[in-house]
Amino acid sequence: MSIENSEPNAPSNPLSNARIVLVHTTHPGNIGAVARAMKNMGLQQLYLVKPKAFPHERAIWRSASAVDILDNAVVVETLEEAVADCGLVVGTSARGRRIPWPLVNPRVCAEKVYPELAQHPVALVFGREDRGLTNEELQACHLHVNIPASEDYSSLNLGMAVQVVSYELRMHHLAMQDQLSTDEMQEWDTRMARVDEIERMFVHLEETLIEMDFLNPAAPKQLMTRLRRLYNRTRMDDLEVQMMRGILTSTQQWVRKARDK
Ligand code: SAH
Repeated sequence: MSIENSEPNAPSNPLSNARIVLVHTTHPGNIGAVARAMKNMGLQQLYLVKPKAFPHERAIWRSASAVDILDNAVVVETLEEAVADCGLVVGTSARGRRIPWPLVNPRVCAEKVYPELAQHPVALVFGREDRGLTNEELQACHLHVNIPASEDYSSLNLGMAVQVVSYELRMHHLAMQDQLSTDEMQEWDTRMARVDEIERMFVHLEETLIEMDFLNPAAPKQLMTRLRRLYNRTRMDDLEVQMMRGILTSTQQWVRKARDK
């Protein structure tokens, strides 16, 4: 699977296209808890279909530092409006197979949803605290997700359910990013420099800066530390290190020539 960020409208962060939709939420505290779970997992888009009480101070209180998610929440009258611009709609259900429909767990859901986030908003729809989503609402979804909780008690609190589903999305996002950086490295035309090579470059750099009188060894301040930090922000390959060493050698020769005159 690859991150298809080459689409013209692809967001730089795919998670910004993940939309949490809460249908007919009764308790404003749950809306706050959802906002917090979302912000913790790096999600931003919250849509509320006909919430019973919103805005509400209990929502603000439960959201802790995720008030911005509540401030930007979009309140609509129908589920249809909440998902109109989405390319994929995923419904959640506390009860496994309520109606015959493609059903996955949150991990597989993340695998299916993530690649689509590069192309269009994807809705993750959560139901009422007491009754969940109606069959009609579930049938408006392409895919259903069930958190495989204990059979003794399979219904999670709304905020917790959002947490689990968005956690899996985040884990997938992080795994994809790691893979991307590995892929970038695989396509590199030369090998990355080894630590010892970079260390020798720093020694050479320091020597040269001293010879140039740029660095006073009696009062070095933070110069080498800052230069190390600068170079460590990038990953140098072996040719780049060799190039730097060449520049330093040539600089030393110039300085020595100038001194000898
Ligand atoms: N009594 C309801 C449970 C509603 S819980 C029912 O049986 O459907 C409120 C919402 O939290 C659900 O609509 C769903 O969106 C989410 N949720 C709770 N437990 C879940 C689970 N095990 N899997 C997926 N979603 C769950």
